[in-house]
Amino acid sequence: SEIQDIYLRDVILDVVESLQYKANKEEIKLQVEEIPKNLLVTADHNQIKQVLINLVENAIKYNKPDGSVTVGVKPYSQDESRVLVYVEDTGIGINQQYIDRVTERFFRVDKSRSRGKGGTGLGLAIVKHIMEAHDEEFFIESTPNVGSTFSFTLTKVDNSGPAATSPKE
Ligand code: ATP
Ligand code: MG
Repeated sequence: SEIQDIYLRDVILDVVESLQYKANKEEIKLQVEEIPKNLLVTADHNQIKQVLINLVENAIKYNKPDGSVTVGVKPYSQDESRVLVYVEDTGIGINQQYIDRVTERFFRVDKSRSRGKGGTGLGLAIVKHIMEAHDEEFFIESTPNVGSTFSFTLTKVDNSGPAATSPKE
């Protein structure tokens, strides 16, 4: 792995742009909240990109007609040196009993329903693995039939990000 300083906004916009056609095809609105341009985090660029791809793909795939997906960054209340990246959807949601299991390799909720959507059940196992390797947190919140929020922490490079003073644009 290659840990470097990365501009979080650029990675997120890059991934969202590359998946916009999938969202369009499913008629899902895929949007990004405003993210500070100067927000630098320490992480493996390719791995964080993979995490975002897996989460946004799921948020599109397990959504509902006229649904939406929102990606954003906010302060992490537990630790000022980190931020929380979230991918929120208005999709089918996940039953509480399965939330701890969706990060298991090959685990898919409702295999018959998921079959039509393709996939192997590895996306979230990879996400969990990458965030553990980064020593960062990974959270899943979900309400069946309402939607889900997948989020993870990243560590800011000193003095970058929402809480820091930065030159006016
Ligand atoms: P792959 O990602 O390997 O193509 P997959 O999407 O089935 O296949 P995961 O990404 O690991 O595998 O997700 C595991 C299961 O968790 C999914 O099959 C689905 O049942 C459930 N799931 C994942 N993301 C969401 C979501 N945003 N909303 C509802 N259910 C989800
Ligand atoms: Mg997936």
